[in-house]
Amino acid sequence: MRDVAFNLPFFYGSISRCEADEYLRMGGMTDGLFLLRLCLRSLGGYVLSVVHDLKIYHYPIERQLNGTYAIAGGKSHCGPEELCEYYSRDADGLSCVLRKPCIRPAGVEPKPGAFDTIREHMLREYARQTWNLEGDTLEQAIISQAPQLQKLIATTAHEKMAWYHASIAREEAERRLYSGAQPDGKYLLRQRKEAGTYALSMLYGKTAYHYRIELDKSGKFSIPDGSKFDTLWQLVEYLKLKSDGVISVLREACNNPSQPADPVRPPTLPPNRQSVISLACNPDGYTPEPMGERRILPMDASSYVSPYSDPEDLKDKKLYLKRECLLIDEVELGSGNFGCVKKGVYKMRKQQIDVAIKVLKNDNEKSLKEELMKEAEFMQKLDNPYIVRMIGVCQAEHLMLVMEMASGGPLNKFLSSKKDQISVDNVVELLHQVSIGMRYLEENNFVHRDLAARNVLLVNQHYAKISDFGLSKAIGADDSYYKARTAGKWPVKWYAPECINFRKFSSKADVWSFGVTMWEAFTFGQKPYKKMKGPEVVTFIEQGGRLERPPECPDEMHELMQECWTYKCDDRPGFEQVESKMRNYYYQITQKPATV
Ligand code: AMP
Repeated sequence: MRDVAFNLPFFYGSISRCEADEYLRMGGMTDGLFLLRLCLRSLGGYVLSVVHDLKIYHYPIERQLNGTYAIAGGKSHCGPEELCEYYSRDADGLSCVLRKPCIRPAGVEPKPGAFDTIREHMLREYARQTWNLEGDTLEQAIISQAPQLQKLIATTAHEKMAWYHASIAREEAERRLYSGAQPDGKYLLRQRKEAGTYALSMLYGKTAYHYRIELDKSGKFSIPDGSKFDTLWQLVEYLKLKSDGVISVLREACNNPSQPADPVRPPTLPPNRQSVISLACNPDGYTPEPMGERRILPMDASSYVSPYSDPEDLKDKKLYLKRECLLIDEVELGSGNFGCVKKGVYKMRKQQIDVAIKVLKNDNEKSLKEELMKEAEFMQKLDNPYIVRMIGVCQAEHLMLVMEMASGGPLNKFLSSKKDQISVDNVVELLHQVSIGMRYLEENNFVHRDLAARNVLLVNQHYAKISDFGLSKAIGADDSYYKARTAGKWPVKWYAPECINFRKFSSKADVWSFGVTMWEAFTFGQKPYKKMKGPEVVTFIEQGGRLERPPECPDEMHELMQECWTYKCDDRPGFEQVESKMRNYYYQITQKPATV
């Protein structure tokens, strides 16, 4: 993933202050000449370097906790580009307004930082090893979790560096520094016994110096009285350029003999950031956000991978399940016109999994039975982490459809009952997951036809799955839509105009429903078009009316919602675009500096 400033022609990436000065000198040192570079100290921060009166001023731009950017004491801006634009109109505390961007010379790309070059590799390896994922599921894990993982990885990246020697004693550090050549500035980093503290050991004039590195309450690392850094590798990178509080700049890394050449170990959290991840959510799926701890990710849930991921179980997979493998609890999870949904356990070869069982109340009613079987046959074709998977069907005392359990219940109910505890960022996260699941359906030519917040079930507060495939259809290979023979009992308020007018159902029609689902989520579970009846809604839409913007809905999300409600289905975006927009926005709001 590229830096948000990557495409700005005056962005130089991870260059030092001296290099910035050099570029500005080459640019002519005119008043207001400026460039932007990455901050070497704070994660996600930048530095604005500006010429005034033949002097160069450097202003650090911090990425703040709410994801905005600001120069200390200045106004907040949504991105570095917007910040530069603002200061080109108003000096507002800077030495002068930004007048002329110092454009990168032809052929010069923004310089990647030490972390950039290993980030992609680490992200992939971390996802692969932590959750034991491969193939498409691995790609999805990377897409949906990159922001959280990047933060986690950034704060643990030092473990992968050749200069990191883990927890060795001071004497051993000296032995390693003195072995072989002993140039000034030879260095290594080690963990101290005292939890959360590290030491920098270095040689100068053939003498070993040791500096304690402390982690303060705000999660910043520093050598006492030195500059503060978000991560240990940034501290090292900085000290390579400037001897800030130590005897000399760092020059040659003393390599850890036990550090693998191609490091693939998943990083572990430093002691004070380490947390025990409780997967046991409350039954209603709500677990209060633990401050400063790694929060639950979808992959932590056992239902992230298919229950049939074990090849032995897959060999035995059949549509019909054996009754003796199914334990049915009396607890009812919900109900519908077909009957009720009960809690249960399904015994597989090596594991027992929690399941939800849709029990048909009246087996004699042929149409209901047929409907349930159609739903089962449809669900059997699907396998995606963001879609409730079906385990199989069981014909015993009743006809039963056995599915993965999503114990958090429907999204609309969850949000309306937890309104004060759930952040807008959390809502975006869940909607992004729904868009990944819908993109999967679109790619495989399936239409859902009943996408709504009531049909998005939660595994936990940070993990949503699409459910209820009672109305879903596969689209023929040569068609782009499914045409319903007759209009039925339809969720009209979620339907696009072409569904009502021409009974035409495509993924684009599901996109319309996704827009309504977004609206439900950003209103924390309100009912859309509350005061209107179905036919009134149809007229309202035909006349150009649309649901109003929910008060807490971010601009970007409201824009996307409106795009989903584009009248002509050909002009409406598909899920490929919707997911990509959701992802970009989700990344934007979640890429905040790592804090404790
Ligand atoms: P449905 O008719 O499929 O919408 O199911 C009715 C209700 O049963 C839902 O609103 C949920 O509360 C519950 N339910 C359905 N499927 C599941 C599931 N896989 N896990 C947990 N609860 C479920």
